[in-house]
Amino acid sequence: MIHPSANGMRDSGPTMIGCPACAGTLRAEVGPRRHIEFICSVGHAFSLADLYQAKEEELEQSEWSVMALLRHLEMILGMALDRGSESETRDVQAIHRRLEQVNRQITIIEQMIQHTQVVTQQTPATAGDAFPGTAHE
Ligand SMILES: [Zn+2]
Repeated sequence: MIHPSANGMRDSGPTMIGCPACAGTLRAEVGPRRHIEFICSVGHAFSLADLYQAKEEELEQSEWSVMALLRHLEMILGMALDRGSESETRDVQAIHRRLEQVNRQITIIEQMIQHTQVVTQQTPATAGDAFPGTAHE
């Protein structure tokens, strides 16, 4: 459903995409020449290309956060193993299993980070090809 709004943009309605700058969600507005803009309830506004870039950055931050948590778990589990004499044998086995799992998960996240190929904007002439509707006015 598309509704005209005061600024000449047509409101395409809410999306399920979170605003990269706050806790709000974005609504899409389509302007002249199919230019699309995403705006949250407090006024943060993004072009399609800007929103894409912001979400890629958000994803990378999340991947590094997961990596940090896994490294923390690795250290904590290592400390728990150092104190193994105080633990029951089955706890030590469970700690070893979880530590192996954490190490595999670290490898998976490393591969995810290394193999991500972000779409980059090149020259202004070709940027519109990657993100139709975001051509500069
Ligand atoms: Zn916002």
